[in-house]
Amino acid sequence: LFGPPAAGKGTQAKRLVEERGFRQLSTGEMLRAARAAGTSLGKKVAKIMDAGQLVSDEVVIALIAESLTAGEGAPGFIFDGFPRTTAQAEALDRLLKERGVKIDKVIRLVVDDDALVARMSKRAAEEGRADDTVAAFKARLSAYNAQTAALIPFYRRQGVLAEVDGMGAIDDVAAAIGRVLGPRRKIKGRK
Ligand code: AMP
Repeated sequence: LFGPPAAGKGTQAKRLVEERGFRQLSTGEMLRAARAAGTSLGKKVAKIMDAGQLVSDEVVIALIAESLTAGEGAPGFIFDGFPRTTAQAEALDRLLKERGVKIDKVIRLVVDDDALVARMSKRAAEEGRADDTVAAFKARLSAYNAQTAALIPFYRRQGVLAEVDGMGAIDDVAAAIGRVLGPRRKIKGRK
């Protein structure tokens, strides 16, 4: 799932986990968990995250590599907030190739900037994330524009990019994503 901060990637990723049994790989959540646990990694990334900047490619690529190994056998993975740079996207291609799998779709949630700021303020009130302040959010948005948006043509060239209007209600966006992914495969043990 691809898109700027507060586009709804995390919300939609969780629905795909519920509905399709995919495993969500969110580097943002992994980093927040490392901080909450007080690990040396968590300490190292805290300031960068709170400033709304990107942590190093090396750190997030290592987190994704570990999770892919840990998740072997899952019916699918949904990447949420990764990759965010061309170096990360190239590393992901390598990691997937080594495992004999590939990216089926990159679903870009298209949301305009005003709506993003409104969503961020709502989330700040609900969850109290340290990087959901106006200044940090602006930094995150400019990191997205400067470093992440370049992945749109990257994935378009690979022929895997699908664009979904992310402005609507959660259910409507989920339905649009469902149409891109096609019918659900039966998940073992579920009806
Ligand atoms: P997120 O929850 O995806 O918005 O991520 C929160 C913060 O974690 C970001 O603002 C970055 O500081 C850091 N982060 C998460 N994923 C990445 C990534 N793929 N590359 C670099 N930094 C990341």
